[in-house]
Amino acid sequence: MKFSTRSFSRRSLLLGGAGATAAFATTQVLRPQQAMAQTGEINLYSSRHYNTDDALYEQFTERTGIRVNLLEGNADELLERIKTEGDSSPADVFMTVDAGRLWRADQAGLFTPVSSSILEERIPESLRHPEGHWFGFSKRARVIMYNKDLVNPSELSTYEALADSRWRGKVLTRSSTDIYSQSLTASMIAAHGAAEAESWAKGVVANFARNPEGNDRAQIEAAASGLGTLAIANTYYLPRYAKDEDPAKRAVFDKISVFFPNQGDRGTHINISGGGVIKSAPNKDNAIQFLEYLSSFTAQVFFAQGNNEYPVVDGIPVDPVVGAFGTFDADTLNVSLLGENQAEAVRIMDRAGWT
Ligand code: FE
Repeated sequence: MKFSTRSFSRRSLLLGGAGATAAFATTQVLRPQQAMAQTGEINLYSSRHYNTDDALYEQFTERTGIRVNLLEGNADELLERIKTEGDSSPADVFMTVDAGRLWRADQAGLFTPVSSSILEERIPESLRHPEGHWFGFSKRARVIMYNKDLVNPSELSTYEALADSRWRGKVLTRSSTDIYSQSLTASMIAAHGAAEAESWAKGVVANFARNPEGNDRAQIEAAASGLGTLAIANTYYLPRYAKDEDPAKRAVFDKISVFFPNQGDRGTHINISGGGVIKSAPNKDNAIQFLEYLSSFTAQVFFAQGNNEYPVVDGIPVDPVVGAFGTFDADTLNVSLLGENQAEAVRIMDRAGWT
């Protein structure tokens, strides 16, 4: 497995800002004794890697003097690493995407509860663990994207209606092994119970344009090409096409529109990108300060816009391309339910033949 470690030290900022930071970037692997010996720092294990994240960490250091030692990697690998390191793990904070993954980390006993009036006031209850084991810092909406030439949006309404036989051969989605599919099905269980969720899954499978393959981008591109007409995808993938230098990618953007499902009832399915404080964190107070910082106005702007997501705090501007998708009502189901229903969701999708 490959990890990259970078430090955002206060010193490098004082010596000349963002440009100088790169010169101070380190590539050594964190060792517990090395991390423990230093003060005024946090060790952040993150599976997020967006350009604006660097600016985010630098600003935190500038404000607090606390250095961020970043260990980046694949979410499951980072999780395994923290487990293996055990009580001597230098990890203070683990950040990842999808409440289902945060839930898995929590099931493995990695997080410690955090009680912070700042976090509790700023982050809506539905976007954090009920006992403060983890917190959402950006929101992602899983929507129906449709080919504008082939679908009239007046035909669209809900996730439930994706099981309607009128969409035979038209629905594109990722595999059931993917956490996004698992979380969407988990939200159907929360809304309707397991039995109805299973008949829904069977209906959706019957409407597949092809056996699930690829990531969200693959679904969007297939819908643009007319292989199917409806793609289930997270909104943040679409602005990347609008901003691409390649005209073929921009052509994909021109073909596709976003539909926010379930506006007449519970709202659109929401997930989060977020994190929590590790049980054995050597720098627990700094770690809490870091999470609180992530809920601040500027951090929210960086955090959400870095991946064209939605902020969790009200009144924060979104990326202009994202803003053009329009406003929507979000499901207020506590996202921890997506984790609790995960195993059941997988069983349901298996039985429904959702490969
Ligand atoms: Fe994604």
